[in-house]
Amino acid sequence: GKARRSKYETESERKKPSGDGTRCRTPEDCFARPIASAPDAWFDMVERDWNDGEKVIDRTTKRRRCLNLGSYNYLGFGSFDEYCTPRVIESLKKFSASTCSSRVDAGTTSVHVELEECVAKYVGKHSAIVFGMGYATNSFIIPVLIGKGGLIISDSLNHSSIINGARGSGANIRIFQHNTPSHLERILREEIAERQTKTHKPWKKIIVIVEGNYSMEREICKLPEIVSICKRYKAYVYLDEAHSIGAIGNTGRGVCELLGVNTADVDIMMGTFSKSFASCGGYIAGSKHHCPAHLYATSISTPSAQQIISAIRVILGEDGSNRGAQKLARIRENSNYFRSELRNMGFKVLGDVDSPVMPIMLYHPAKIPAFSRECLRENRANSKRNMKQVAIAVVGFPATPLMLGRARICISASHSKQDLIKALEVISKVGDLTGVKYFPAAPKKQ
Ligand code: PMP
Repeated sequence: GKARRSKYETESERKKPSGDGTRCRTPEDCFARPIASAPDAWFDMVERDWNDGEKVIDRTTKRRRCLNLGSYNYLGFGSFDEYCTPRVIESLKKFSASTCSSRVDAGTTSVHVELEECVAKYVGKHSAIVFGMGYATNSFIIPVLIGKGGLIISDSLNHSSIINGARGSGANIRIFQHNTPSHLERILREEIAERQTKTHKPWKKIIVIVEGNYSMEREICKLPEIVSICKRYKAYVYLDEAHSIGAIGNTGRGVCELLGVNTADVDIMMGTFSKSFASCGGYIAGSKHHCPAHLYATSISTPSAQQIISAIRVILGEDGSNRGAQKLARIRENSNYFRSELRNMGFKVLGDVDSPVMPIMLYHPAKIPAFSRECLRENRANSKRNMKQVAIAVVGFPATPLMLGRARICISASHSKQDLIKALEVISKVGDLTGVKYFPAAPKKQ
């Protein structure tokens, strides 16, 4: 058969310099290097300057200055903040970097107590406990809540920390199709009916575990339907709000606020501080609980705890400014603008309205390092027009199915419109080069 003609038809055309003096990049160029040894495709060691939060310096690849589209700094608290940063420094001076002790020994400061009260109030629950790591929060807490004789029904795309906690609990586990309430209901009906026979004891407890805003697909949880099913079948609802707390809803209170769900109907609310609050750690909020991690794990560092309290105060306007409301409006505006521009360019972009993370589907594993590498590439044409390189996290197997690789763009309230326009230019070029615009571009508006 006739060979398919590439966009670069002849060898001379392919080598022809582009208008700005750099050689044309061809799709063959960007797939030329092997996948497994592609250190230039990842930004695995970065420097960050807190005065310039949304720029990272990619140290492994010739110290290039990149626009950061790769971290979950949703509200832009990851750089210097006039309210948060001085308080964090003050708390470092007063309490030092670590408590060097567990909560029940010498690891509880006034800041820890204040943080737990502040978080419980913010998420609308009676009480909260905090831990030094979000991942560990799910892994520690799920086995405390349920064990042998219990049933966990977990969304198929739940985060690895949830899977870890569920497996460690000793409970039986059933998986329901991602964000599909009808499938969840079918499993509940089957499981409860089966346990009504003489040969089985009823489940001691059933917990349904979902995320507020899914970390891979970026869909917002169908929480109202899930809550009503769980009520009907007397199952507890466990909601992980890692990617929704602080980022979604009018006052950043997450999916309950966005979807109008009463927080009393969600039994266990979990979240992390490593995204919107630009700190680290996790919380669990509900009725009063105790966890062995309080006995055996060092408490969250006091400056990190102070950062969270300060960020929540800014979000709620308790710092005396309206910066928090502006940040929340900005993240929504930036996210919706960026997602619709990417879709207009012809990319397959996942995620719902308002979600600040947008996966661009790359599909083929070879496209994963190629896409990242080209976004990071030192390109003379770019620097001439003062265009920044963009640092984007790319995700593939085993975090996704093998043929569902993606680039995961994270938008922040601290990206300026100019930053986003420049990033879109780079991404569009790279999309053409790597062949990942799967749809025709929308006609440009006049
Ligand atoms: N839950 C979910 C849904 C997550 O996406 C993550 C990490 N991104 C975690 C828990 C773990 O949180 P952390 O990274 O703060 O440890």
